[in-house]
Amino acid sequence: FQSPPKKTTYGPLADEDRIFTNLYGRHDWRLKGALKRGDWYKTKEILLKGVDWILNEIKVSGLRGRGGAGFPTGMKWSFMNKPSDGRPKYLVVNADEGEPGTCKDREIMRNDPHKLVEGCLVAGRAMGARAAYIYIRGEFYNESSNLQVAINEAYAAGLIGKNACGSGYDFDVFVMRGAGAYICGEETALIESLEGKQGKPRLKPPFPADVGVFGCPTTVANVETVSVAPTICRRGGSWFLGFGRERNSGTKLFNISGHVNHPCTVEEEMSIPLKELIERHAGGVRGGWDNLLAVIPGGSSTPLIPKNVCEDVLMDFDGLIQAQTGLGTAALIVMDKSTDIIRAIARLIEFYKHESCGQCTPCREGVDWMNNMMWRFVRGDARPAEIDMIWELSKQIEGHTICALGDGAAWPVQGLIRHFRPVMESRIAEYQQQQQARA
Ligand code: SF4
Repeated sequence: FQSPPKKTTYGPLADEDRIFTNLYGRHDWRLKGALKRGDWYKTKEILLKGVDWILNEIKVSGLRGRGGAGFPTGMKWSFMNKPSDGRPKYLVVNADEGEPGTCKDREIMRNDPHKLVEGCLVAGRAMGARAAYIYIRGEFYNESSNLQVAINEAYAAGLIGKNACGSGYDFDVFVMRGAGAYICGEETALIESLEGKQGKPRLKPPFPADVGVFGCPTTVANVETVSVAPTICRRGGSWFLGFGRERNSGTKLFNISGHVNHPCTVEEEMSIPLKELIERHAGGVRGGWDNLLAVIPGGSSTPLIPKNVCEDVLMDFDGLIQAQTGLGTAALIVMDKSTDIIRAIARLIEFYKHESCGQCTPCREGVDWMNNMMWRFVRGDARPAEIDMIWELSKQIEGHTICALGDGAAWPVQGLIRHFRPVMESRIAEYQQQQQARA
């Protein structure tokens, strides 16, 4: 990758640099409005430039997957760029957005669905895919309806289907609604579900690029990742690379929820400081910055960080890894000092216990144990040594399961112990004092 311009400050993003110009649904989301906002502009020319040109622009942009893992997108898409063995190739769009705190893809599909449909065509062309399947979370009824309307409009206008945009390339787009299981957001569980089976993750290898949906080469990509591809191609990979910092480029959608004055979804420059993001776009922490207790920075699977870490951490992949957490889905959950932090994490673990598919023992049994222990920590009904026990248990789950749900359940517990161990210890001490007073 080329080096981006050297910068020391990031954001705010100028209006003309926003990709998602209808995030709040203020404009017409139908084809007429989308055309006015620049969607489908010169798409035919992009398609005619060919696979290598599109892949190169995506690689130059430094785009990394926006679904949580952050894998370099250009490299991932190029895995499909192999001589055909006769099997069709497919793009599968992961629109099964179910991570607590996360609703960025929902906003795209609700208010800017043509960005995703055009993105499917451009990304599909880069992979030589025959069709895209958009697997959408079942609860997103209105979003799947808007998406289907946008797809129908694109077919009627000749933008997709046979000879898409007059490019000579045939490409279909289908929508498939899920049935409400969080685990179907995992790429191989999603593929299983798409094939009509139970949504249970597959062992890898084989990876989807070799054996994906219906046994064919497949790339599973996040809604936001796919939706930004046409703009990157129109404005150039180096334009996108100019935002953020090295290895963390581009613009990004952030969800900000919890104890802030104005919860919102906003597009900002990658690497913007967390504090500035909250104060500029969400009206600050309820009761002021000093009232902040902790932030979960990237959806429920990322470990929380306390206020002192939040002071100058940058919102990007590397900045948050340094802070022993992760960018994840870039969904910030802000918690002020009124929060019972042990209860908050216990509630998340209960969610993971409920959503575990049950295939692997460390996840099925271990997350259940963590859930039982966490609710005892909420009451204080535990021994201090059990804090080390649950830490060890979380380490036995992490990295020992088929899919990342086990890790996603282990990390919030580790973040709690790393930063709030004294709170857990004093809760236990209080409970023991109450028991002695009653005796
Ligand atoms: Fe299923 Fe959990 Fe194993 Fe993932 S980690 S395959 S959710 S049991």
